[in-house]
Amino acid sequence: MKNWGFKIPDSRTLDLDKEDLKLYNKIVEKVPSARRCIMCGMCSATCSAANHTNFNFRLVHHKFRMGMFESLASELDKCMLCGKCRMLCPRGVNTRAVIYNMRIILDNMYYKNI
Ligand code: SF4
Ligand code: SF4
Repeated sequence: MKNWGFKIPDSRTLDLDKEDLKLYNKIVEKVPSARRCIMCGMCSATCSAANHTNFNFRLVHHKFRMGMFESLASELDKCMLCGKCRMLCPRGVNTRAVIYNMRIILDNMYYKNI
């Protein structure tokens, strides 16, 4: 590995290769453009729901990818599926479809658990 003269502490390192991406890969299967997200935040800055709530697509997308599902379902309910973010995404991510599929997967998880 190249020596850059500094090292990021392990506690602040995210290694996606170590995450269990099984559920996230289901999203990518349905919506391949999800892979193109660079977490730039353009969608969050222009989100219709964010005008009235603290909804943040970039955050929920990141949390889902990292397997942090706690309270994500109620967070996703804030999205109105209006599609504005999709039109503005510089990477052409079908954000609306990502959110829709995240909801389906979390619903299935919930109903299987009861
Ligand atoms: S605008 Fe597109 S690339 Fe940027 S965070 Fe949102 S989905 Fe990802
Ligand atoms: S589809 Fe959801 S995340 Fe995208 S702009 Fe509309 S309310 Fe916001």
